Amino acid sequence: MDAAALLTALAVTILVVIFLVQPLLGQRAGAPRRAAGVSSLEAELERTIDTLRELDFDRALGKIPEDEYPARRQELVAQGADQLRRLDEARGTPLAVRDAALEAEITARRAQPASNGVKRKAGYCPACGAPVQVGDKFCPRCGTALGHEKTT
Ligand SMILES: [Zn+2]
Repeated sequence: MDAAALLTALAVTILVVIFLVQPLLGQRAGAPRRAAGVSSLEAELERTIDTLRELDFDRALGKIPEDEYPARRQELVAQGADQLRRLDEARGTPLAVRDAALEAEITARRAQPASNGVKRKAGYCPACGAPVQVGDKFCPRCGTALGHEKTT
């Protein structure tokens, strides 16, 4: 093997190594790290929403005092909104859609049949329009006393 052939072999080897390594270097720069951040935020948000569902469920079972429920729910919704905001920042979602998205998600989940089918939606609060359930004496959002469905 002469010097020219050796140099050619070396050059080819270097090119092949660069070709193989380049995509790995490119990927390492941002994508996987960002994806990990998004998925951990998603997991956090998921937990918050699960906790919200549990709160609603416990309340339906009478485990949560009526006067504690609105504050606890509000706290969890605020927490979820914050997580959603950070998630949207990580994903690059426009800010305009974020607040509606959380409420929509919660509403969708609450609309799913509860595992024991404890209560069902009976209608909406005449004062604030929040959904209320069969047997609710007070609106979960604003605390208005709920009589019969018929209201002026
Ligand atoms: Zn209300």
